[in-house]
Amino acid sequence: MTSRNLFSNIRTRFAPSPTGFIHLGNIRSALYPWAFARNKGGAFIVRIEDTDTERSTDAAIQTILDSMAWLSLDFDEGPFFQSQRLHRYSEVIADLLDAGLAYRCYMTADELEDLRARQRAQGLTPCYDGRWRPEPGKELPAPPAGVEPVIRFKNPQSGYVSWRDAVKGPIEFSNRMLDDLIIARSDGTPTYNFCVVVDDMDMRITHVIRGDDHINNTPRQINILRALGQAPPVYAHLPTVLDASGAKMSKRTGAMSIMQYRDEGYLPEAVLNYLARLGWSHGDAEIFSRAQFIAWFDLEHLGQSPAQYDPDKLRWLNHHYIQSADNARLAELVQPFLHALGIASSRLAEGPPLTRVVALLKERAYTLKDLAAEAALFYRTPQIDRAECAQYLTPEVIAALTELVTALQNTEWTRSAIHRAFTATLKRHHLKMPQLAMPVRLLMTGTTRTPSIDAVLELFGRETMLARIRANLF
Ligand code: GLU
Repeated sequence: MTSRNLFSNIRTRFAPSPTGFIHLGNIRSALYPWAFARNKGGAFIVRIEDTDTERSTDAAIQTILDSMAWLSLDFDEGPFFQSQRLHRYSEVIADLLDAGLAYRCYMTADELEDLRARQRAQGLTPCYDGRWRPEPGKELPAPPAGVEPVIRFKNPQSGYVSWRDAVKGPIEFSNRMLDDLIIARSDGTPTYNFCVVVDDMDMRITHVIRGDDHINNTPRQINILRALGQAPPVYAHLPTVLDASGAKMSKRTGAMSIMQYRDEGYLPEAVLNYLARLGWSHGDAEIFSRAQFIAWFDLEHLGQSPAQYDPDKLRWLNHHYIQSADNARLAELVQPFLHALGIASSRLAEGPPLTRVVALLKERAYTLKDLAAEAALFYRTPQIDRAECAQYLTPEVIAALTELVTALQNTEWTRSAIHRAFTATLKRHHLKMPQLAMPVRLLMTGTTRTPSIDAVLELFGRETMLARIRANLF
């Protein structure tokens, strides 16, 4: 596949490890590189880092792709799978060995453990001591029989690795702190940092935008890239996302997966808008469209300190987007939530049009779940509590109600005509609106918590009104 804009060479990627769960903090590492590529007319690439076969699952891959699709984070290339690129990693390892930039190390696991124990006893940080590293004039022992070697990268032993991080500013590591990284295990499988480097090189990634838990990998990756003759990309390391209690967001502490937000009744545009602001800003703008986000996105305004998840703010945004959503779309989206409440499609077909019901109710809804709970009133057979009704149904109210029903039988069936019928009856009987509205609500729906009664009756229709009030009153 080719990138969308041949005039831009900006290429970003999302490189998740499919080991389970994907929460807001994880998907943010897709959102920002996506937005950056879209802003620059570049390409956004998805690469699944699934070399850890023990922990990677197909279900997790599907969840990642579903979450991206739900948020409409479209990509130009991929998904590529590291597990399908093993031959390529072997090829690059062979090149590095040929060029003397990597070497075989025959140290056994026991020897390594011994070395580490000694270093710890001396108060040193455990690291490989370079015993199999070839150097001019150095005599290496004969490879021991029966030991399969690992391959180590010949890391520079002096100087510094530094880069100007687009979020954190200048960062520098001394090469003396970096030992010779294992790039292939003794069974020949390549290791994590090495695969990332080969992929970023082959995929011509220009900007690596990822979580700051990868900062310690970056100097190693830069050294390997340089050994391969590549200029490092721009790095932007995103501060972590904290949950509402201030701890690092994680499944263990109750973070929700992206698809759970859908299942709880959040709109994707609300989650996208929320996430955009979770670590990036454009002045004071809180509510903005996807197109605006793309147009505004830059690396300069990424936040430097950890962002904290605020569920109330997400609900507030969701409320906003529910208000502005098209009613036909809302009706479509709310249906599965109504089914979950036990309301079958046939029942929906018998009641008032769902589009009109959501139009009436959406003002109060913070999630589609809320909206469904309210809308259910229109599609359920009401459970009438006789004792509760009796509290309202005094003889004078019954007299007024009887008259109201007669008036409603003949009136035009619009909200305002229904309202006029109410006010005329109330006036004649010297009653206040709640004295009539409450019992009508109860008789129609089984509850007194409904929107304005004229709007409710209009939606139910005259026949249902007559049937329910007559059935329960007379
Ligand atoms: N696979 C890594 C992760 O899921 C990301 C690697 C990267 O972005 O360089 O944390």
